[in-house]
Amino acid sequence: MLDKDLFQTKHNAIYDPEFQKHLAEAPWKEWLSKPGYFEVRQEYLKKIHEWIHSTEANVVKGLARFKHRDMINGTTQAFDEAYYRYSNKRLRLLRGEYAYHKRVVGNLSYLDDENGNYIPVEENDWVIVSYPFCGNGDIPPHFDQLQDDCLKKNVPLLLDCAWFGTCRDIYIDVNHPAITEVCFSLTKGIGLGNIRSGIRYSNYEDNLPIRQQNNYNHLPLGAAQVGIWQMQKFGPDFIPNKYYDPIYKHVCFAHNLKETNCMMMAMLDKDHPDYNHYLIDGLYSKVGIREAVKKQRQTNPDPIFCRAPFTSIYYREKPNSVAFCCVQKGRKILSTGETVKDWWQEKNSQQMREDFIWGTWPKACSECQWTEENAGIDSDRRGFDKVPLENININTGNKLAFPQYVDYRPDNLCNLMCTMCSPGNSNLVEKMWDAMPDIFGKHNSLATEDNVDFYDTQLINKHTVKLKVLGGEPTINKKVHRVFNYCIENDFAKSVNLSMTTNFTNLNSTYNLIDKFNSVGIQASLDGTGDTYEYIRRPAKWKQIKKNIKEFIDKYSDNDKYTLGINLVFQPVNAFTVDEWLYELLELHYLYNTEKKHKKFSKTPSVLLIDYPAGFTFGILPEKYKEQLKQQYNKMISEIKSNDPIAEQKKYYLDLFIKYVDYQSYSFKELNSFKRKTLAMDEYKKTDITKLHPVFKELLEYEE
Ligand code: SF4
Repeated sequence: MLDKDLFQTKHNAIYDPEFQKHLAEAPWKEWLSKPGYFEVRQEYLKKIHEWIHSTEANVVKGLARFKHRDMINGTTQAFDEAYYRYSNKRLRLLRGEYAYHKRVVGNLSYLDDENGNYIPVEENDWVIVSYPFCGNGDIPPHFDQLQDDCLKKNVPLLLDCAWFGTCRDIYIDVNHPAITEVCFSLTKGIGLGNIRSGIRYSNYEDNLPIRQQNNYNHLPLGAAQVGIWQMQKFGPDFIPNKYYDPIYKHVCFAHNLKETNCMMMAMLDKDHPDYNHYLIDGLYSKVGIREAVKKQRQTNPDPIFCRAPFTSIYYREKPNSVAFCCVQKGRKILSTGETVKDWWQEKNSQQMREDFIWGTWPKACSECQWTEENAGIDSDRRGFDKVPLENININTGNKLAFPQYVDYRPDNLCNLMCTMCSPGNSNLVEKMWDAMPDIFGKHNSLATEDNVDFYDTQLINKHTVKLKVLGGEPTINKKVHRVFNYCIENDFAKSVNLSMTTNFTNLNSTYNLIDKFNSVGIQASLDGTGDTYEYIRRPAKWKQIKKNIKEFIDKYSDNDKYTLGINLVFQPVNAFTVDEWLYELLELHYLYNTEKKHKKFSKTPSVLLIDYPAGFTFGILPEKYKEQLKQQYNKMISEIKSNDPIAEQKKYYLDLFIKYVDYQSYSFKELNSFKRKTLAMDEYKKTDITKLHPVFKELLEYEE
């Protein structure tokens, strides 16, 4: 349900604070020092005519065909005179039209029925139509037919452009001879509701009040003076340019509203629970969103949104933990009896959704926030952009009230023990940590029962649109195979887009199963090549991994169902040898793939920020080493040849690395942790970090 204080049945225009600020700066003394002050009728009419035609967000055509331009006290004055002019005729209005007419005029009838079907005009009718149309914030329905009909039956047609100044993408062509008058005002577009003025275009040769007042200069000329002042500063596109993207778009999207062309209004679909509350004349359910737009402007005028808290679950079987994604801070461990549904609807989950509805970063999303604000690149949240999302709701998340994107981590079975890994992701690393609890600390066992599966219809069902699986290593994990089989046997697989992260140590029968899914995104975990790779991803051999990746590309590059990406964990251990491995990796990814003519296999590799475990983050590097890295990368950038086919990609990654080394600030405690853990790990894994790069010897001996 919409908050009725923010989403109103009134459709008042957006009032920008700049309007008032500029009004306060008006040169009243200068104006009042002139003899015959405010004698600006002609200047006003010229200015407002030019102002209307200065729009670039809309098109206005045909006003030149009108002989008379009269100043009016807002469009309401034009209506009042028209009521008098046509008092012996019946007024015809479209449903949803400006309510003032209905309050003032007794003799009226609609131009359409409750289903929106057009009811033709008759000879003794006259018509007012707002354009943009008040009913839908767009162009009025049946307008071409209505104009032709009015002309044929000699029915006067008044065009009310009062909402001009609040709209975009509206095509106003008043060339049709049926149109007898057109009026504009400055009330809605540039915030002059309390100092009204406007213009009427017509061919009337009469002595009715508007013409009399113009002839005798009995006009609100103070308002005209102020109007000129405001028009000098604010064009007719000020509101749509400032508010449409992102504020208006975000408010509509986050509150399940349909956009219109007018920035203070949105529409509701028939299945919206508030449809009847906002229904006008049985036809249009229209919502005044000015207060919501104002709140959005005040809360975050550049709103961000992530679909994960509305659509997605990250589930780890041990210790039965859930989150909306793998990078969110503060995973929830479900206690006995607690279900996924309980977590999905609990207060913290609702709070994260509410934060995104108002376009602000929840605390738990600090990693994505840092990536976007400091590194200036897309964060993990972009990975959720394509997940379908209908009926955004703080409590239920989405229309189905459960997640459709499932990131499933059955256990930690793995065949590698990578440097930056932790027990949660590799049973071999867990074994190493268990062997040296004084170095790595104690933790509860993370291995799970081999024959027990934790997924059920709460997690994976016919509505699942994406299944993400990663390690341990999925290709060697029977549990992962059982999940795949579960999807295949229940006929879910054909509609599920699968994402699997693998270390490419093998290309086994897992690939026969994944072939049954709707699409398959393979992410290769590669943090370097050659010696750097082999140091980090012990005991894998780079030669074999490279062979497997090439074999995969050879086999699947013709198959549109498959995509290949790279997950690269950028960390101190591979940071000093970037010159040895980066280009080989990028050449494999971009050039080998290009040879295979499969562009989808060349999508940008994702670089993952390392913030855990302690001792492996950039917090181990004193400032001089960070500077050394930055200089090294800058030198590499300067040496990239302009005719290098992947010059752009090389520069992109080096630029990124320059930013990433600053992700954590140096701490001696962190460096000491590196020393203890690295020495212990090297002994356990029979590796030697000092052979990778001399800097590591310096770091191991570094003292403060
Ligand atoms: S913004 Fe990032 S951390 Fe937050 S839910 Fe989205 S993907 Fe996860």
